[in-house]
Amino acid sequence: MATSTTSTTDKIVKVAAANIAVALVVVLLKYIAYLVSGSVALFSDALESIVNVITAMTAYFAIWMSAKPPDSDHQFGHSKAEFLAAMFEGAMIAVAAVLIMIKAYQGLVGGVTLEHSTLGLTINSAATAINAGWAWVMIKFGTDWRSPALVADGHHLVTDVITSVGVIIGLTLAVWTGWHILDPLIAAVVAVNILTMGYRIATESMSRLMDEAASPEIEARIRGAIEANGIGALQAHDIRTRQAGRALFIEFHLVVPGSMTVDEAHAICDRLENSIEHSLEGSEVVIHVEPEYKAKPEDSGAVPL
Ligand code: ZN
Ligand code: ZN
Repeated sequence: MATSTTSTTDKIVKVAAANIAVALVVVLLKYIAYLVSGSVALFSDALESIVNVITAMTAYFAIWMSAKPPDSDHQFGHSKAEFLAAMFEGAMIAVAAVLIMIKAYQGLVGGVTLEHSTLGLTINSAATAINAGWAWVMIKFGTDWRSPALVADGHHLVTDVITSVGVIIGLTLAVWTGWHILDPLIAAVVAVNILTMGYRIATESMSRLMDEAASPEIEARIRGAIEANGIGALQAHDIRTRQAGRALFIEFHLVVPGSMTVDEAHAICDRLENSIEHSLEGSEVVIHVEPEYKAKPEDSGAVPL
């Protein structure tokens, strides 16, 4: 069992590494397609693929890092690395969008001269086909091996393929109609699309990095578990939760009679910790014991026992 899990992790890491190589090849091809054609739309598509290289590296880093158990330097585990990487990814995406906007603006104001557009379109189409095939591989293996990071990156590639197909159709139209101003206009649409994607990634990981509290439903389950297992104690208060990736850290104060022995209080704490950690996967509970004069009024959100 352990060996099969290890080899699956190895395979996931290998596919994640291959993903970086494929992304680099696609960027190179798309950049060549831009160079031979001078098309702003193909430039925007190439820049979007640079984002893919960064995304591929982020996914690799996240898979490798999240597999590491807690160590003496990071005693609560490494689950936040993923969000830090995603924040960086969001910032890089924004930079790519701004670069495309500048290029599109220059094209709109100064006009565009499309050269060898058929060659450019052919090279870009080949790169897009590689992307589409690779997206299929990532989603298939990611699903088989239950790796959310691979599946997510595969779906991200699918949206890129759709963008590329849009760029190819638009640029073909621009060449056919001779209306070359369509070219920077398509690029501007791609830039807005990329910016939206970057904003979503950045805000999502930002709220998770800022120690977001558990949802009201989870908090209700915690309070329910305290009520059901707190017999012998008087009250629980100052319940605080914070999420870090798949980990959920929970802490609260437990008021017990001052005359209670350490043995008895500890038994209640163990019972509470075990029941909460059992009912909420990935949770870690820490309880601070207090005598009755530290009890808080009921309207403070305290759980009476
Ligand atoms: Zn207290
Ligand atoms: Zn203990």
